[in-house]
Order: sequence, then structure tokens, then C-alpha cells
Amino acid sequence: MSINIAIDGPAGAGKSTIAKRLAADLSYVYVDTGAMYRAMALYFMEQGIDASEEEKINAGCDKIEITIAYEDGEQKVYLNGSDVSGRIRTEEVGNMASLTSVYVKVRAKLVELQQALAKKTNVIMDGRDIGTCVLPDAQVKIYLTASVETRAKRRYDELLAKGINCDLDEIKKDIEKRDYQDTHREISPLRQAEDAHLLDSSALDIDEVVSAIKKICKEKNLI
Ligand code: C5P
Repeated sequence: MSINIAIDGPAGAGKSTIAKRLAADLSYVYVDTGAMYRAMALYFMEQGIDASEEEKINAGCDKIEITIAYEDGEQKVYLNGSDVSGRIRTEEVGNMASLTSVYVKVRAKLVELQQALAKKTNVIMDGRDIGTCVLPDAQVKIYLTASVETRAKRRYDELLAKGINCDLDEIKKDIEKRDYQDTHREISPLRQAEDAHLLDSSALDIDEVVSAIKKICKEKNLI
């Protein structure tokens, strides 16, 4: 049986950084489920479909094929055969993903793909509903969060480092909006699973969070 580690939490909590580090250290496969919602969102945007047009979104779902591949340990996302891994990383696509991930058909399609991946190999999967819905039997569940201020500042520093001009207040508002959408949707809203370990990374660095999760894995005799 494969070992599954689920990491959920709000946007900007550092899930992907932590999950990537852990996956490399433990030789697990890292599955970034947000990237899958982003790839679907990119398709809808390219088709000129508005996030409110559920019928068109449902019809679009039947025309989308999302596949995941690993190149040098990095997850690549393919949308109908094209590598979209770089193009899905904009704020615009992230916001569209948050708006279109509310639909049952979008979620059903991706949950099936995620469960199939976790069944065949040891994974560290991050997202919003992994511990509550996708992998309810995951051996370790983490709910990783941080204050809105911390998450906004991290995102701001990241964009500045890439030479992208941005406004801290705008980023904070964007994060708050995304938190609201993700926690208030009807299907699989973001919430901490009852059996998840809560980790607040506001005052912790990457090494400290990774160590805390490894400690939990050791206590469960997984490593
Ligand atoms: O994590 P990331 O910012 O890439 O996710 C983009 C959006 O996709 C989230 O705001 C959320 O609405 C959606 N998502 C989701 N369930 C997941 C992963 C992401 O609904 N498991």
C-alpha cells in the first residue's frame, strides 16, 4: 500500500515549498493539485468562458485532458498535450482557478486523477481538500497556515525578487478574497480535517516546518 501525506491550507501558506522539500528528502512524489485547477482555469480563459457560466464550464470539462508528468523531479502539467506549467503561474489564472474550482464537474474530474496518482505511489499531495476529501485515509495530514500578513509579505517578496512591481496591500486583499472563496464554497471547502495536525508557519522558517512534519512521520513509524 502506498503512503500518502496530505498538506492542506490557504493560499500562500508555503505548502508547495514544504511539500517539495519533503518529497525530495523522503523520495516521494510531490503532487501539486492547485496546478491542475489552474490548468483547467487556463483552458476556460482561453476559450473566453466566464467563471459564472457553469454550463459552458461543464461542457468544457469533457474537452479537457489534464496529465501530469515528472521531469527531473519537477511536476509538469499538460493541458490537452501542451505543457502549461509556466503559464498557469499568474495571479489571474490563480483567481480564475479559485472561481471555477467551485463546480462539481471540475472537482470530480481532478479528484479522480489525484486519487489514481496516490494509489500507485507514495505521495505528498498539497491542496485545499486533500485530507478532507481526496485522501481521507492519508497516513499523515497537515493543515499548514500562516497569518494573512505573513502570507502577503512572502508573496510580495517573491514577486519583487522576480522583478515584478507590486503593491503589498493589493496582494493582501487578493489573499483575503481567495481565502473567503475557498472556505465558503459549497463543495469541499478549505477546512482542517479533524485528524490533521495544525501548523502555523508565521513564525517558522522552512527548515522548522519540514522538521515538524518529519517528526510527525517518525512518530507514526513512516520514516
Ligand atoms: O494552490 P493554488 O493557489 O495553486 O490553487 C489555486 C486554486 O485552486 C485555489 O485557490 C483553490 O480554489 C483551487 N484548489 C482547490 N482544491 C485543491 C487545490 C486547489 O479547490 N485541492
